Amino acid sequence: MKAVRWIIASMILVAAVLTAAFHISPSLEGWPQANDDTPPKQGQVTITFLGTSTLLISDGETHLLTDGYFSRVSIPSLFLPMTPDQARIRQALETAGIDKVDAIPVLHTHFDHVMDSGIVAQLTGAQLLGSSSAAMAAIGSGLDEEHITTVQTHHPYRFGDFTLTFVPASHVPLPSAIEKWTGKGEITDPVTPPAWIGEWEEGQSYGLVVEHPQARILIQGSAGMQPGELDRYQADYALVATASLGKQSEAYKEAYFRETVAAVGAHTIIPVHWDNFFSELTEDVPTLPWVMDNLKDSFTALTSRHQGDFLVLRPFHSLGLTPPAAPAEGTAP
Ligand SMILES: [Zn+2]
Repeated sequence: MKAVRWIIASMILVAAVLTAAFHISPSLEGWPQANDDTPPKQGQVTITFLGTSTLLISDGETHLLTDGYFSRVSIPSLFLPMTPDQARIRQALETAGIDKVDAIPVLHTHFDHVMDSGIVAQLTGAQLLGSSSAAMAAIGSGLDEEHITTVQTHHPYRFGDFTLTFVPASHVPLPSAIEKWTGKGEITDPVTPPAWIGEWEEGQSYGLVVEHPQARILIQGSAGMQPGELDRYQADYALVATASLGKQSEAYKEAYFRETVAAVGAHTIIPVHWDNFFSELTEDVPTLPWVMDNLKDSFTALTSRHQGDFLVLRPFHSLGLTPPAAPAEGTAP
């Protein structure tokens, strides 16, 4: 009887420690935050952060939404078959004022990127673009094939005044058990929810270069890279994922900075994928819990190497971007 009591007591203790570990998050205090509430000028490009790597990019005419993940499945629910949360999707779209979207570029196909993409495309009339795995996830969500584009890398896709280019990237390394559990391969059959977490396999990971006469942007949906792939592009704003970056080696952090922010010559870094995406998307969403990421290490990996600005955007907050600087007079083309 004594042994049983000990076992129960230790199980309660382990559960309490785990619960605490997944609920205590580093603070955003001290990091510079973008507080730009001025309405955009005619034709100005704005970005709105919507958690994970989900970003609304708009010039007032054309609207792009990367990934579009709003279900934000809780940690216990990851262990059961998962279904997109229609109520949360509609609520987030409404809060962000999104009714029409032209394109949804999918940056890779883990659940926290692609799970809702097909549904958001149906609700907003968007064209979904991504890997063959993204196409399979979208078909499983019921999106018709006319609204799906399987992309080629380094190829321009035009939407209004925006040009989108998908650039090969890699996923941030995760502990091998987590990689196995969340799926590291390709999706070869439609994923029809409810589905297990590992059915949304990673597929190809991309960096996305967004070019517009009024703004040049890089979005790196996971803290990974492919050497040299971004060298031919320029972007003023680097919206780069930081989740798990702090846990990598100094050499890895250096390479990530060099192959993303430095490769495109960005003057401003805006971190993405720092929020606790297991909790509902709110303006004051917590950061990823300590056990999953050390926010300070992840942010410092970038700020310690960057000469320009570093700005945190809270969910549902927007930032009006500055157009690319005109080439100085007299410089050779
Ligand atoms: Zn992922």
